[in-house]
Amino acid sequence: MAADSRSDGRADGDGVRHARLVIIGSGPAGYTAAVYAARAALAPVLFQGLQPGGQLMITTEVENWPGDTVVLGPDLMARMEAHARALGTEIVADIVTSVDLSRRPFRLETDSGARWRAEAIVIATGAVARWLGVPGEEALRGHGVSACATCDGFFFRDRHVAVVGGGNSAAEEALFLTRFASRVTLIHRRDTLRADRTNQARLFANPRIVPLWNRVVTEVLPDSSGRAVGGVRLRDTRTGAEETLALDGLFVAIGHDPATALFRGQLDMDPDGYIRTRPDSTATSVPGVFAAGDVRDRLFRQAVTSAGMGCMAALEAERFLAHADAGQDAARAA
Ligand code: NAP
Repeated sequence: MAADSRSDGRADGDGVRHARLVIIGSGPAGYTAAVYAARAALAPVLFQGLQPGGQLMITTEVENWPGDTVVLGPDLMARMEAHARALGTEIVADIVTSVDLSRRPFRLETDSGARWRAEAIVIATGAVARWLGVPGEEALRGHGVSACATCDGFFFRDRHVAVVGGGNSAAEEALFLTRFASRVTLIHRRDTLRADRTNQARLFANPRIVPLWNRVVTEVLPDSSGRAVGGVRLRDTRTGAEETLALDGLFVAIGHDPATALFRGQLDMDPDGYIRTRPDSTATSVPGVFAAGDVRDRLFRQAVTSAGMGCMAALEAERFLAHADAGQDAARAA
C-alpha cells in the first residue's frame, strides 16, 4: 500500500488494516495509553488479549487506586475500558499472535486471522502468573491447584487450603480464601514476608491463617481418587527435612513473569524477559515501539505506576508519529 502514515483503521485491497498506533494489552497501562492517544487524535486500536482487563480482573478490592478509597478490580477496569472507548479507541477483543518489527509499518497478526499494519506500537501485555514447576502441579491444575483465589476460592468452603508465597498477592489470596476455607496455611520459603505492613497486619490478625515458615513445596499429591489435590510434600529450607501436609486445595502466588514471548529476538530484553527501555522513557530498542507496565517493570508493578507508564508511552508515540509525519511532508515538498 502507499504507506500514507495518516491513514487509519481501513482495510486495504489486500485485507490488511492500517493503524497509526496499535496498543497491545488491556490492563491499566494499555487503557491509559489509549486514553491519551485517543485524545491526541491518533485513532488508537487496542487489542485486549487473552485476559481483557488484565490482572485486576482477578482481584477483589483495590485500596490504593487514588481517588477511590476502595474499588473492585473488575469495576475499575470496566471504567477504564469505557473511558478509552468513549474517547474513540477501537477496542478489539482479539489476541495478537505474531508481530514483525523488522518492517515498517510493523506487521501484526491476530488469533482471529486478522492482519494489521501499525506505524507505532505500545506494548502493554503485562505479566503472567508463575508456577512452581513441581511434580503433580500441572496435572492437578484446575483440580485443586489454582493461581486465582477470586476465581476458585468458592469451591473450598469449609476446606483446608494452602497459599504459597510471601508477597502481597499471597497475603491477599490468603485473606480472601478465609471467606470460604476453614483453614488457610501460608507456605513461605523464608520466615519474613515481602507483603506490605497493612497486609501483614491483616494476615497475622486472622485466626484462620496459619503461616508455615521456611518451607518449599516439592510435590503436589493427589487424593485417593487421583483426580483432586490431597496434599503437598514440603521441604524445610533450613534443615532439608521432608514432610507431607494434607490439603484440599493449593493456591500458587509466587509472582509473575513478563508476557514478552511475542517480542523475543526482536527487542532488547533482560535475562528474565523484561523489555529494556531507555532511561526516563518507554522507548524500546526499536524506534516507534514503546513498552509500559509489567512488561518492563520488575520493581513497582502497581496499577497506578502501570497507568503512568501507559501515559508516557502514548505521549512518546505521539511525538514519534509527529516526527514521522514531518519527515513525510518534507519528502513530499522536496
Ligand atoms: P512478589 O512480590 O514478587 O512476591 C512473590 C513471592 O513468592 C515472594 O515472597 C517470593 O519469595 C515467593 N516466591 C517466588 N518464587 C518462588 C518459588 N519458586 N517458590 C516459593 N516461593 C517463591 O509477587 P506478588 O506478590 O505477585 O506481587 C507482585 C507485585 O504486585 C508486587 O510489587 C506487589 O507489591 C504488587 N501487588 C500489590 C498489591 C497491593 O498493593 N494491594 C496486591 C498484589 C500485588 P521471597 O520473598 O523469598 O522472594
